[in-house]
Amino acid sequence: MARPFLASLLFCMTIALQASPTWAARSLVVTIFPHDELANVSDESIHKDYVQPWLEEMRKISNHSIEIIFKRDVAGITDIPYEQMSPEETVNIFAKAAHPQFRWQKAILLARNPFGLNSERIETFGLAMIGHPYAIASLAAYSTLGHEQGHTMNATHEAAELRYTPWPCESYVYPNRNPLRSNCYRYSDQNRATISNYLDKALRN
Ligand SMILES: [Zn+2]
Repeated sequence: MARPFLASLLFCMTIALQASPTWAARSLVVTIFPHDELANVSDESIHKDYVQPWLEEMRKISNHSIEIIFKRDVAGITDIPYEQMSPEETVNIFAKAAHPQFRWQKAILLARNPFGLNSERIETFGLAMIGHPYAIASLAAYSTLGHEQGHTMNATHEAAELRYTPWPCESYVYPNRNPLRSNCYRYSDQNRATISNYLDKALRN
């Protein structure tokens, strides 16, 4: 069933309203497309469990505001039969159907399960290309949304790191997730700087 447009709008979240005093800036607008198979998982639940930890990290990186918009029941996007295709095919179809028009827009397809084996025969929890505005992410791991969103803002595996608190945790964008380690729910310092620079350029009017 289609969600009323107003309800989607009401769930738009804006954080860190303060912009740099020296120049006006746009918000980063992230449109999240929960797959139709997630009809029984509410936007509020996805936001609380998957989006909020990422937003809290983003607040530490940048003063730019971020809007989150949920869109459901979009034919050709939220019904992509991803379990019948490779992760690369899924991201290509999603990119063509939901391709954002501007650098301040990002789009991400959320699915319940991993996307299958990629061309290197590795189980794929998410996929994005560096600096491109679209990504796919599974809810099977809590860190995947932040991982793929980081790639869309130029964060790299090479700049990711293990951190010690004192137990090892994986920063967002760390490759080859090991379930025996926890998530740090933060980017490495180098990826933080990369993302901050990206936003300064992408969101400048
Ligand atoms: Zn990655």
